[in-house]
Amino acid sequence: MRGGYQGIRTDVAEDRVNLLGLPRSELTAFVAARLEAKPFRARQLMKWIYRRGAADFSVMTDLAQDFRVRLAEVAKISVPEIVTEQQSSDGTRKWMLRMDAVQGIETVYIPEPDRGTLCISSQVGCAMDCTFCATAQQGFNRNLSIAEIVGQVWLAHRELEASARITNIVLMGMGEPLANYRNVVPAMRVFTDDLGYDLSRRRVTLSTSGLVPQMYKLAEECNVALAVSLHAPNDALRNELVPINRKHPIDELLAACWHYIDKQNGRSVTFEYVMLDGVNDKPEHARQLARLLHGRPAKLNLIPFNVFPGTRYRRSPAATILRFRDILNENGVIATIRRTRGDDIDAACGQLAGQVTDRTLVRLGTRLTAVARSSAEVR
Ligand code: SAH
Repeated sequence: MRGGYQGIRTDVAEDRVNLLGLPRSELTAFVAARLEAKPFRARQLMKWIYRRGAADFSVMTDLAQDFRVRLAEVAKISVPEIVTEQQSSDGTRKWMLRMDAVQGIETVYIPEPDRGTLCISSQVGCAMDCTFCATAQQGFNRNLSIAEIVGQVWLAHRELEASARITNIVLMGMGEPLANYRNVVPAMRVFTDDLGYDLSRRRVTLSTSGLVPQMYKLAEECNVALAVSLHAPNDALRNELVPINRKHPIDELLAACWHYIDKQNGRSVTFEYVMLDGVNDKPEHARQLARLLHGRPAKLNLIPFNVFPGTRYRRSPAATILRFRDILNENGVIATIRRTRGDDIDAACGQLAGQVTDRTLVRLGTRLTAVARSSAEVR
């Protein structure tokens, strides 16, 4: 049954352009072409949309009245809608946002004493099929548009108001960002633009499971911080945990990482490593990892596995994780343990499920035939 598109089809006659998320160059071209306006109009619009959180042209009082009227005829600012909000006992907040009639994605805000990190999604579901990730269980539905990606930040800004600040954005929510390269890269430009969210490039992090060709492309076009989901120190194990490894094995992946750092003059790649009890957490795995990363611009972030319904994995015991970290440190690799945040509201790494229906049938790895389930059944 394909009921999924009715919601967005209702405004099929809608040809007003959504300005939310348009990078400055495109917004400038748009106001020139459609309104014969000068570039400073685009700058004014960006300030209103991002700094002041405007979603309505009528509040933009420094724009002439007739300009605002013409603007409203050809453009709009449409922002995502909140379906639910949850707050964790540790202050972490999670929003489920409606993307269209049936699809929902999740965005998480993680407050820390010295910063506020917003974790955003790039796709409805995910096709990468990593065996330990809740999002993977949902399969893939579709890519988010630029407006839907930037809209998550816009909305979190509005909801947080003066109570907290977003100092960092991480593309570590639902989806594989490099599989939605076309929309993710322009969205990141808005995050770093001084008229957008004005974040330094080091404070925007893209995390990938290892789409090697897109990593090379990214190195040419965008210099945000890079995180890579490694999770295993050898191909046999990584093939099993992160199926994209069968296409782009570890040596290829690492070559792309070092290239990225060279090209960007970057500091280091952060490698994420989920700690799965009895699977990838043995001392020998730590030593293998150290051999891969020693002397390289690399940091390791050990993530205690977060459970979700139906998973066959367990979290490594705390003592095992500490020992794993120590072996790495002793062997010259900087490793830290990621503190689990928001797990009481299913907002921790790998727990984001959103609401994904109408999934495509093909997933990497298992190539299973998926019968569309709603997230209610998955949970
Ligand atoms: N698809 C991208 C972005 C997701 S980032 C990527 O794979 O990098 C989310 C991070 O959480 C990834 O490193 C992912 O591997 C990790 N993760 C997934 N499931 C997890 C779980 N159940 N517990 C802990 N970490 C998990």
